[in-house]
Order: sequence, then C-alpha cells, then structure tokens
Amino acid sequence: MKRFLTICFCFGLFLGWSFAIGQEKNGPIIILDPGHGGLDYGAVGVNGVREKDIVLAVGKEVLRLNKELYGNQLNIYLTRYSDTLIWLGHRAKLAKALRANLFVSIHCNQATRKKHKVLKSLYNIPT
Ligand SMILES: [Zn+2]
Repeated sequence: MKRFLTICFCFGLFLGWSFAIGQEKNGPIIILDPGHGGLDYGAVGVNGVREKDIVLAVGKEVLRLNKELYGNQLNIYLTRYSDTLIWLGHRAKLAKALRANLFVSIHCNQATRKKHKVLKSLYNIPT
C-alpha cells in the first residue's frame, strides 16, 4: 500500500508539473498504459496482490486527479479501462492513432531479493 501511495504521489507531482508549465486542453496527448491485464497478471505479491490490478488503479487515479484537480485540462487516455489484456502491438497502434506526445507504461515490478530497491524509468523521445 505504501508503494501504491508513493506511485500515486509521483503521478500527482507529474500532473502538477504538467499543469504548471502551461499545458492546455488542446495540449499534448498523454497515454498511460497500465501494463498486463486479463490472463496476464504481471507480478504477484506475497499477499496475492496482482500487478495488473495495481497499475490499473494507478491509471484510474491519475484520471480522477486530472478531473477533480484540473477539470480534465490534460488530454490523458488509458490503453485499458478494465481488466483486459491489450496486446503490445495494439497499445502502440493506439499511441500512433492518437498521435501521443507522451506514452507512460505503468508497471510495478518485483524483486526476489530484499536488498533490491530500485525505481526504473524508461523513456523514448519520438523523432
Ligand atoms: Zn509489469
């Protein structure tokens, strides 16, 4: 739960930062990609919590924050809104179809060794 709240906090900062630099409703298109879904559970925690459920909750929380704090001023879309598996190729096609400016894939990876405490961030700048 602490990790979930940390992730929500980070996205809140991201939304606040995006709003602060002057993005408007017609501004950049942001796609959040809650990983996994359907039969693909992703990582499973020791208490049985599934990655696919956490990342979907994070994506929906960002949408809620955008609506309640910023009146939906940011153009944010999810690649999935329910517990369904969207193939990677279809996620990419969605990003291209919407001409996304930013694509954020959300994952909650796990490590079997307790000494591994890492935040991983990957990005790609379209050319
Ligand atoms: Zn994952």
